[in-house]
Amino acid sequence: MTDHEAGLKLAARWIADSARPLVFTGAGLSTESGIPDFRSPGGIWEKYNPEDFYFDRFLASEGAREKYWQMATEMYEVMRGAQPNRAHLALARLERIGRLDCLITQNIDGLHQKAGTSEEKIIELHGTAVYVACLDCRRRFDRDLIQERIKGGVKVPYCDGCGGPLKPATISFGQAMPERELAEACRRSSRCDLFLVVGSSLVVYPAASLPSLAKGGGAKLAIINREPTPFDETADLVIRAEAGDALTGIVNLIAAMVP
Ligand code: NAD
Ligand code: ZN
Repeated sequence: MTDHEAGLKLAARWIADSARPLVFTGAGLSTESGIPDFRSPGGIWEKYNPEDFYFDRFLASEGAREKYWQMATEMYEVMRGAQPNRAHLALARLERIGRLDCLITQNIDGLHQKAGTSEEKIIELHGTAVYVACLDCRRRFDRDLIQERIKGGVKVPYCDGCGGPLKPATISFGQAMPERELAEACRRSSRCDLFLVVGSSLVVYPAASLPSLAKGGGAKLAIINREPTPFDETADLVIRAEAGDALTGIVNLIAAMVP
C-alpha cells in the first residue's frame, strides 16, 4: 500500500467511526468545476489586487464599487454555469450514507446545494453569491436580475426601495462575518470529533481559526489539499491530493465499511 492509499484508508476509518464528522471546504473544492480559487497560479489574485476589494473602500467610493462589480460579475458568470464536481458529489453521498454531521464552507458558489447536500447541514461562512442585498435596508434581490441590469450598462446597481448600494450577499475583507453562522460554526467545530479540511489554504481568518477550535475540543484534524497549509504541522493526517480524487476514494471506502 502506498502512503497515499494508507492516508485515504485512515481518513475513511476515522469518518466511519466518528460520531460527529465535520467537513470544512474552501475554494479548492470548486476549481475542478472551473471556478478559479484566489491563491493558486491563475487564481483571482493574479488578475485583481485584493486591496481594491476591502469593504471600507466599497463603502467609500463609486470607483471602488465599480471595480468590485466588474470582478464580481466576471466571477459570477463562471459560477452561474458551473456544475458540482466529484468532490461535491462525494460529500453529498457522505450525507446520504449518514456520515456527515455538518459542512462548513467558505465558498459562495452554491455548489454543495446543487450537488445535493441538504441546506440544514451547510453553514455558509462567507455568504453566498446567489443573491444581492441592499447594504442600507437589507432588501434582497435575485442575483440574475441585477446581472441583467449590469449587462444593460449599469456599472453600480442601487436599491429600488431606498437607493442604498447593492452588494452580492458575500463577505468581503473587512466586512463583518454573519453572526449566526460564525457562532454556529464555532460551536460545531468545538464539539465535533473529526474535522476534515478540503481545498482551503487556511490563511483567511476567522475561518482558519476553526481547525484550532476543533483540535482544542479533542477532535482529530485531517487536511486534504493540493499545497501545504499552515496547519499541516498540527494535523493528525495530511493528504496532498486533488479534492475530487481523494474524496471519491475515501467515500467509496466508507460506503464499504458502514452497514
Ligand atoms: P484559497 O484560494 O486561499 O485556497 C485554495 C486552496 O485549495 C489552495 O491551497 C490550493 O492549493 C487548494 N486547491 C485548489 N484546487 C484544489 C483541488 N482541486 N484539490 C485540492 N486542493 C486544491 O481559498 P480559501 O482557503 O477557500 O479562502 C479564500 C476565500 O476565497 C474564501 O473566503 C472563499 O469565500 C473565497 N472564494 C470562493 C470561491 C468559490 O466559492 N468557489 C472561489 C474563490 C474564492
Ligand atoms: Zn435598500
